Amino acid sequence: MRTMAQLNPSEIKFDEKYGPFINGQLVEATNGYINSINAATGAALSKIGRGGKEDIDLAVKAARAAFQEWSNTTIEKRSALMNKIADTLEANQERLKLIECMDTGRALHEFDLDYELAIYQFRYFASAILNYYEGASRPTQNGYLMTKKEPLGVCAQIIPWNVPMIMTAAKMAPALAAGNTIVLKPAEDACLSVMEFGKLLADILPKGVVNIVPGYGNEAGQALIDHPDINKLTFTGSVGVGRLVGKTAGERILPVTLELGGKSPHIVFPDINIDRAVENATLGYTFFNGESCVLGSRLLIHDDIYDEFVEKLIERAKQVKIGPPTDRSTRLASIINEKQGKRILNYFEIAKNEGAQILYGGNRVTVPGHEHGYFIEPTIIEAENSMRIAQEEIFGPVVTVTRWKDIDAVIKMANAVDYGLAAGIMTENLEKALDTANKLEAGSVWINSYFNFQSGAPFGGYKNSGVGREHNKEALDAYSQSKTIAVAYQLPQVGQFK
Ligand code: NAP
Ligand code: MG
Repeated sequence: MRTMAQLNPSEIKFDEKYGPFINGQLVEATNGYINSINAATGAALSKIGRGGKEDIDLAVKAARAAFQEWSNTTIEKRSALMNKIADTLEANQERLKLIECMDTGRALHEFDLDYELAIYQFRYFASAILNYYEGASRPTQNGYLMTKKEPLGVCAQIIPWNVPMIMTAAKMAPALAAGNTIVLKPAEDACLSVMEFGKLLADILPKGVVNIVPGYGNEAGQALIDHPDINKLTFTGSVGVGRLVGKTAGERILPVTLELGGKSPHIVFPDINIDRAVENATLGYTFFNGESCVLGSRLLIHDDIYDEFVEKLIERAKQVKIGPPTDRSTRLASIINEKQGKRILNYFEIAKNEGAQILYGGNRVTVPGHEHGYFIEPTIIEAENSMRIAQEEIFGPVVTVTRWKDIDAVIKMANAVDYGLAAGIMTENLEKALDTANKLEAGSVWINSYFNFQSGAPFGGYKNSGVGREHNKEALDAYSQSKTIAVAYQLPQVGQFK
């Protein structure tokens, strides 16, 4: 018998079209459809609904109608259903990984991590919710006090295209666990795995608890954040759109969670094993095709080892296998779309114009049979930290290398960006590692192993990288509101107020 792991791309069957998932089923889109293509080959995969105001309104109404029952469902039952979601995702993961691979253009092998994290998000919150409500009552002078957590209501969630299932799970799991209902707007560039996931949810969750409306950001996304009957905004994507979402939240007095990308420093101390450090650094700037908010995109290398390190980094870059996304041996594949591909290539021009030096890469590569795709070489650029190439999020397999001599100066340099999502440190000296970690303005600091994601650890950004934390219990607070109920045993005596 063949296992799921042996699925090949030609065996993947898509629906002819995916309208919005509302009230437990895919329905006709009221506004027509958008072609959904394979990012690397340009081949048509299916069509997705071009969500607009009407679809969003239907989805919000469905979520509102489902809210009372879902919020009153016991936490044991909600927890059990979320474990069922995790099991279902696990059982269907090989198919979904291939879909997501074709949709995003990213290398297939990477999705093992995406799905491990996504599955674990549902398991983690299924468990976390069971002890979330403990210990919230205490006696008072004339009675007692209870603090209660209540869900917020209908949550609007907007996600980007780079890691669709991680994003879906990280948004949905805490919201569902806390008793909310959801309208999710995935990115139009890569949402087929999310739409297929919706179909799987139809057999698990009550109707209307999760609704998914695909479409363009300025149509479906805008209609969702503008809808008068939502109670929470959660967004991951660019700073520009993040500001817009934050502004809307401010005007409407809605709680908001924002995750807005980064320009993460990766600091190399001189005491490390250079070969191993180069391996870690290469993973740090090429994984997820470089299309990752936590990319280790600024290598700050100690002067004593700079030349040898950079030489080896270049040699390692030459070995990174660029190839078809669906080939499991591929390590770097196609960028999501032409716009993003050109945006990355344009940064190489910006780098040259500001006097930075491209030490390796900087070109688009053709992969036979995949001419549509933007395959971009791993690119190493020697730059000053103040240059645009070292300050702006590129979202491609690009790293800047910069020299340092003084520890205080490198910490200053590491922090001298608008972002603060992640950071990496490589040293064998524990004291230096922890002292540096304490001084870095970043939500996640990875010492000696980049991308050391652990579900259950808070994830989110300092500074322009966002507001709030996801992936752990703190997210339950973000999807709940506290109510204090103070009980007195008796009414006050008559005449108490003179
Ligand atoms: P984006 O425009 O911020 O897109 C993120 C999500 O927001 C998508 O679902 C998008 O829809 C939606 N959206 C866009 N405009 C909206 C609006 N007016 N109202 C509500 N929703 C809206 O990001 P992008 O254009 O895909 O990528 C641009 C840059 O953002 C990247 O180069 C990268 O620097 C950064 N980025 C960061 C992350 C991250 O993980 N933090 C992820 C992706 C991108 P559509 O895409 O369907 O139009
Ligand atoms: Mg977009």
